[in-house]
Amino acid sequence: MDGSPVERSIERIMRMSGMAPDGDLTDSFAACIAEEFGIEAVNIRDERMLGHSKLLEYVANTRQPYVDNQLSEYSSFPELIAYLNAGNRSCAVVPVAIGGRMVLVVEMLSKKQDLFSAGLVGGVTVASYVVGLLILQRRETEQNAKMTRYFNSAFSSPVPQMIVSNEGTILKLNGEAARAFGVTEQQRARLGSLLDIDMKRVKERSMSGRETLVGSRNGTGTYAVHASDAGGSTTYVSARSTRAAERMESIAGLMGKGYGAGFIEFGRDLRITYSTQSLGKIIGYDSGLALSRSIVDLVAERERGAFKEAVERVDKEGSSTGMVGFSTDRGTISQVNFIVSRAPEGYLMLFYDAWAQAYVGSMRSAFDEFLDSSSDMALKVDEIGGITYCNHSVEAVLGYERSELLGKDIRTIYADQSVLERDLAYVRNGGKVDNSYTMFTSKDQGQGARKVEATNSIRLFKTGDSPEYVIIAKELETGRLLKAQAEKIKKLDNDKEKLTAMGQQKSRFIYNISHELKTPLTNIKGFSKLLYSGEFGPLNPEQLSHISTIIDEANRLVEMINQILDASKLDSKRMKLELGEVDLRSMESSPSIRALAEMAAKKGLSFSWHSDFDVPTIIADHGRLIQVFVNLIGNSIKFTEEGGIGVHISKHGKRRVRCSVIDTGIGISEENRHRLFRKFYEARGQVHVKQEGSGTGLGLSITKEIVNMHGGAIGYEPVEGHGSEFWFTLPIKRKRKDRSTR
Ligand code: ADP
Repeated sequence: MDGSPVERSIERIMRMSGMAPDGDLTDSFAACIAEEFGIEAVNIRDERMLGHSKLLEYVANTRQPYVDNQLSEYSSFPELIAYLNAGNRSCAVVPVAIGGRMVLVVEMLSKKQDLFSAGLVGGVTVASYVVGLLILQRRETEQNAKMTRYFNSAFSSPVPQMIVSNEGTILKLNGEAARAFGVTEQQRARLGSLLDIDMKRVKERSMSGRETLVGSRNGTGTYAVHASDAGGSTTYVSARSTRAAERMESIAGLMGKGYGAGFIEFGRDLRITYSTQSLGKIIGYDSGLALSRSIVDLVAERERGAFKEAVERVDKEGSSTGMVGFSTDRGTISQVNFIVSRAPEGYLMLFYDAWAQAYVGSMRSAFDEFLDSSSDMALKVDEIGGITYCNHSVEAVLGYERSELLGKDIRTIYADQSVLERDLAYVRNGGKVDNSYTMFTSKDQGQGARKVEATNSIRLFKTGDSPEYVIIAKELETGRLLKAQAEKIKKLDNDKEKLTAMGQQKSRFIYNISHELKTPLTNIKGFSKLLYSGEFGPLNPEQLSHISTIIDEANRLVEMINQILDASKLDSKRMKLELGEVDLRSMESSPSIRALAEMAAKKGLSFSWHSDFDVPTIIADHGRLIQVFVNLIGNSIKFTEEGGIGVHISKHGKRRVRCSVIDTGIGISEENRHRLFRKFYEARGQVHVKQEGSGTGLGLSITKEIVNMHGGAIGYEPVEGHGSEFWFTLPIKRKRKDRSTR
């Protein structure tokens, strides 16, 4: 058989990895290494053993093979003495650390002294790394079903394998065999039509561990065939292509999938004689282009010296491991771990992507994270329908706690189980379900279970023989609600705009109407006054009294119209302040206030105006402030039957003055206070003061607006016992931009 012990053992390891059941795997690997390298005893210890042996621990820590070619009883490690006592004369212990993690330790023992040459240890080390990679890969695969996504055909063997009936019909074949011979399982082809095989002879040779070279019927190649009884009158046949390139390629095909790993063979002159295609993945261009170039050319410039030294060490130590950066076609550097050993015509280098493990891990957690954070509902379900995972969205939409769902039958959360069964069956048979309409049932939280409309997509992930369904579901209701809500908001926005426009039109209309009303009123007032003064002849007392009423009512109407005009001006922000110096102390003597004082006196009420000596002049609109006082004092007179009204003006802090109008009137009930300054407000349930008639309900809102425009504040306090206090503050100086125009 051709190839070095390293190559042969690697091949055998790869072949076994496809078939051996879990527990036997490491034993088979060990036996294979023992056979190929001619070592009496090989044991593979995994990392769980490390704590139990000082020697293994030492090797694990140094990450270097430990070789003792002449065991003696004076050894520093108790294990070595035990080896000696068991009749051994030499030993070698090789650690396999991948991605910074100890995966296994290979322990080799021999009854001969000096067996473990550097070359042998180097070869075993390479083979052991392959075992390590496979074990790791296998563990990763076992760990999680999702990995199938990334290790698509994880552990399908790269060697064509078949189960053949005693009559020579192929009953089962793996993907590799189907590809190599161009047949399918359904065809039930005869083995004899593919290979020129003498089954009896092959079986006999296989029993003594030998393979038989057999030509293929289509003349494409020669296969090393191994055949053994598989029970039930069937035979297991493996047919390994003997073409070195194919062999290596199939190995690389497998390794490349898992770890971005592969081989490079190079001569003593360092020229590359063979490389697996997986090298291309790392250097970024076709691996064929690297052929016959020096391997050193592939290495990043500043690492070349160190790499050459590593290769030189192989001759002394049998193997050499390390990390090296290959320069890629993109000008970047791709880090790989490597292990080089001697090969018949030079060197064999096994490399594996240094970041591969991190990548594999990150892909896995990326998928998990993706499901966790998805706003869609995500569930994982085992083969028999048990829920093994669900994300937050499932909890939120269906109202279950995660712990309630785990282990539960998926069917219990589907309203229409027949649809689910149909979808699962479809997926089981290799189909994909995308956005199929379905209905979930929520948890019954007292008011009965809700039905939740949704669409779901289902995929099946297979690892070994435990399939796992992944279900992603989009719930439809929320989407619809959100859409409806968005439409509502849009409509409200439109309505608001319309209302604003309408409001503006309305206040303009009111303003115009009010303005128009003023002209005829002025005429009514004017002519009434002329009549009253006797311009058109003398009138009797009764006539005079009636005309006086006309004049009073006309005055009231003018006042009301003025208020409406003010309010609509404020509404459309057209009111402007005319600022100047205002002396609040002297305001008492203005005609409007004097008229109010007279009115109070007529009603039998006292009226006082008190201003502190230190009240300064302020900057304000004189006319509008008079309006504020007239309004407040007017109200007080209106709602007071006994006692009187007092005005108090004082300095309020350093920057403000405070004015208050206090009466002994009917006061304002608590429930009415908060609405006081709103437009059109008139206290409800108030015993109305008939003599004055009702107002417009605009006075206080205009008052507040005027105070605010000055940068002041206004408020109401009930007066103990009986009555009201309306107060307002005004800044002494106005800040420059303080609402002077609006
Ligand atoms: P109007 O112009 O109709 O008087 P206002 O806005 O000035 O409107 O006043 C609104 C309401 O507040 C009045 O109708 C009255 O019920 C109440 N009110 C105002 N001032 C006083 C006060 N000093 N005492 C009692 N109630 C008052």
